[in-house]
Amino acid sequence: MPWHANVRTVTPYVAGEQPQQKNIIKLNTNESPYPPGPAVAAALATLDVAALRRYPDPDCGVLARALADYHGLSAEQVFVGVGSDDVLALAFLTFFNSSKPILFPDISYSFYDVWAGLYRIPYRTPALDGHFRIVKADYLSANGGIIFPNPNAPTGILEDLDLVEDIVRANNDSVVIIDEAYIDFGGDSALPLIKKYDNLLVVRTFSKSRSLAGLRIGYAMGQAGLIKHLKDAKFATNSYTMNAPALTLGVAAVEDEAYFKETRAKIIHTREWFAQELIRLGFSFPAPMGNFIFAMHEKTAAAHIFAALRERAIYVRYWQRPRIDNYLRISIGTDDGMRILADNLADILESKGYFGA
Ligand code: PMP
Repeated sequence: MPWHANVRTVTPYVAGEQPQQKNIIKLNTNESPYPPGPAVAAALATLDVAALRRYPDPDCGVLARALADYHGLSAEQVFVGVGSDDVLALAFLTFFNSSKPILFPDISYSFYDVWAGLYRIPYRTPALDGHFRIVKADYLSANGGIIFPNPNAPTGILEDLDLVEDIVRANNDSVVIIDEAYIDFGGDSALPLIKKYDNLLVVRTFSKSRSLAGLRIGYAMGQAGLIKHLKDAKFATNSYTMNAPALTLGVAAVEDEAYFKETRAKIIHTREWFAQELIRLGFSFPAPMGNFIFAMHEKTAAAHIFAALRERAIYVRYWQRPRIDNYLRISIGTDDGMRILADNLADILESKGYFGA
């Protein structure tokens, strides 16, 4: 087919499964196990259907202002998009426009190389060290931009703010994006650094700690000059990215600080308890700082455990990729869900002769 030569082909991202059957325990995409809070439910109940005939506010003003107030910023320092995937994809398009390669770790969010591929951005993926830690020196050479999640995904490892700041400071001729999808579950955010560094963009999501993966809200924060470039790129593609209900419900979620804190504390508590269960079962893992644990078993292959759990309608995440193909990424669910998981893990390991052999 001669037209093929003109197609922008890409190898797409493979999202975690979203099985449609009921009665599964779903621990494969780091969603919150808790529903959105009462304030979101109340706002949903009073949504005005008639208003849907109109386009939504292209500036996402109410939500940008709510987020700006929450973080002590001005609305010009906040950019809102359709989940952080949308924000990140636009940030790749906008800020990574150099012939020098962008840099991100070999093990990190597996969407980064997909966007780089789609936009034909050259990239290098410096290897994390043997403990899955970022090697700072790898990010001090010439580059067209830098991105990494902190805490990292899928390892759950948090790098401290000094390392983040050193990388941002050393790269004032490129934009550094810190993907903070999981920062609410522990650790220091790079957000205060945006005052000092005009090349730093911090990206967050409502999909994990705010229980709203289904609504699709993500946002970026940085100095107004940086954010303006993102807005220009957005208004060059689609003015009305955020639907009107998402804007209203997003504001309700931001304003319900008590519920946010309560569910976040519950998830952290469950994570700490479940980590002990995993150790008891013979797993090891780096200190988990997100709402998931990246675990390997000392005797039993991750691929086997993954398949056995799936047969029992328990979904976790597994990648058949170099260096991580013996790890499972297990999202933190409710206490009940994690209890069932622990019991099933014990059963699966026992059938492989791990216990009492
Ligand atoms: N960044 C990281 C590191 C993630 O794990 C995810 C979730 N898959 C995202 C961004 C995107 O999340 P969302 O688009 O739901 O905001």
